Amino acid sequence: MGNVKKKRFLKLSFIAGDGTGLNVIAHEIAHSWTGNLVTHFNFEHFWIKEAFTVFLERKIMGRIYGEPMRQFLAEGGWKDLKDSIEQYGEKNPLTKLHLDLTGLDPTDSFSKVPYEKGSTVIWYWDELYEDSELFDKFIRYFLSKWKFQSITLHNLFETILEFTRKEAPLDVYTKLLNMNTTAWFEEPGLPPYKPEWLKLGIRSRYKPIVEQVFRFTESQGRIYFNQQLFRDMYDWKEQRVETIETYHRIKNRWMFITGYLVGRELKLFC
Ligand SMILES: [Zn+2]
Repeated sequence: MGNVKKKRFLKLSFIAGDGTGLNVIAHEIAHSWTGNLVTHFNFEHFWIKEAFTVFLERKIMGRIYGEPMRQFLAEGGWKDLKDSIEQYGEKNPLTKLHLDLTGLDPTDSFSKVPYEKGSTVIWYWDELYEDSELFDKFIRYFLSKWKFQSITLHNLFETILEFTRKEAPLDVYTKLLNMNTTAWFEEPGLPPYKPEWLKLGIRSRYKPIVEQVFRFTESQGRIYFNQQLFRDMYDWKEQRVETIETYHRIKNRWMFITGYLVGRELKLFC
C-alpha cells in the first residue's frame, strides 16, 4: 500500500530462498512512484494506483525471470479477477473500476477488481502501442506530469491521449480515441477484452505455448484468430515445419475458406 510519511521496513527473511515473495517486494517498491509520487484523488479512483503498480510489478518480474513469467502472473491475475467478480456478482457496481462510493464505506469496495481489472487496462494500452519502450516512455511522462499530485480517471485518460497524440503513430491514437471507455471504466463485470496470452506466448518464443496454440486452432474455425495465430507461428522459424505439418493435419476440420486463408499466411498459395 505505501504511505509517503511513514517509512516501512521489511525483514530480509520476507523473501524466501527460491524468490517467493519477490513480486510483493516489486509491487511495494513500484508504489514509490505509482501510489506515492502520484496518487489517486479519492477512493473512487483507487484502481489507478493499483493498476499501474500491478502492471509494473509484473514487468519487473518479467525482467528478472523472462516474459513467460510476466504472462504467467497476469494469467493468474485474470483468474483471481474472475473469481472476485463471481463472488460479488457480475452486475455488482463494486466491480466497476470507477466507483461511486456515495453512502458506502470504501473498505467494502476492496477486492481484486481494482488490481486485476485495473492492470488489464494498462496491459491493453501497452498492447495497443505494440512498442513497450514507447509505452514505458508514456509511464514516465505520466509520472513526471502528475508528481506530488492526486489524480482522477479524467486526468489519466487526458494524459494518455495527449502523449499518444504527440508521440505515437496515428493509428494508436485513433484506437485509443475509439476505446469504449464506458465499458472499461463505468460498467461492472469483466473488462471488454482479455489479454492475448497465446499471441504473446508465440511472440516471446515460449515453447510450451505451441501445443496450446495448435489445440486452440484445431478446436474452432474462426478465420481471424486462426489467421493471426498461424501468421505468428510462421514467423517463428524453429517452429515453421511443425506449423505447416499441423496446418495440413487440421485444415479439413475448418471451412474451406478458413483453410485457404490460413494457408496463404503460411505462403502455401500465391
Ligand atoms: Zn498495491
